[in-house]
Amino acid sequence: MSTSLAGKTALITGSTSGIGLAYAKALAGEGANVVINGFGDKDAIEKERQGLETLSGAKALYSGHDLTKVDQIEAMMKDAADTFGGVDILINNAGMQHVAPVEEFPLDKWDLIIALNLNAAFHTTRLALPWMKDRKWGRIIQTASAHSLVASPYKSAYVTAKHGLAGFTKTVALEVATFGITANCISPGYVWTPLVENQIPDTMKARGMTREQVMNDVLLAGQPTKQFVTAEQVAATALYLCSDAAAQVTGANLSIDGGWTAQ
Ligand code: NAD
Repeated sequence: MSTSLAGKTALITGSTSGIGLAYAKALAGEGANVVINGFGDKDAIEKERQGLETLSGAKALYSGHDLTKVDQIEAMMKDAADTFGGVDILINNAGMQHVAPVEEFPLDKWDLIIALNLNAAFHTTRLALPWMKDRKWGRIIQTASAHSLVASPYKSAYVTAKHGLAGFTKTVALEVATFGITANCISPGYVWTPLVENQIPDTMKARGMTREQVMNDVLLAGQPTKQFVTAEQVAATALYLCSDAAAQVTGANLSIDGGWTAQ
């Protein structure tokens, strides 16, 4: 499958690490200019940004705004427009998690998770669409989650946001269906990212388990293949969604979860 994205601009939220960085590498490798976003060490981010520019010669811009705030989302979208004209491929990927029973869920965490995992996608989408509609081409991709389809206890804000994101995406897909713009969710199960890897030592200590027990009996308990999804597998699905072969794939929620949601 050839997916030349030369001349296109992709903005990927939360792309200084994990799945977002894998998207940025995949899209830059196919010739797209990329706008990366997220937090982290300044020098490490600049190194990643420069590395992205070596993949195909396309440009990479870092816009490190906090996407829990509407004015900062607007500033990020303006950075992209000022540098590249507009955004052809929008990947809403920035996300956070907090685990607590509903009656003890910290109010500030609830608000932050809904703001980042759900509201930010509304704001980036409304700001990206005019450019996509003018050009009669666009791709909107959400990193949703298996938790956009099923729930787990103690993750009420995350599950609410991801289910909301799935509904929002279907609505957008219908509204822009005649403009050459598609909108889809990618819903991974457990993906091997630094975030997941970093949980292992604490869980080993807390539960008195070996590394293998934590991976198989805790993290992969619900994933029938008993293997982690890789960030590169998720990014490859985004590349497919950007290709002409996927022009009629819209309003879909594509699971990459080792069979989790088949159960
Ligand atoms: P990660 O923690 O490695 O990456 C999260 C990114 O979001 C980072 O770049 C971080 O700096 C950025 N970010 C955090 N708060 C932000 C804010 N306020 N404004 C802007 N950027 C912010 O996590 P990941 O595992 O790569 O997750 C990426 C997405 O994939 C999330 O939406 C997550 O819900 C989803 N997801 C992850 C998994 C998994 O197992 N890792 C599974 C399903 C879905």
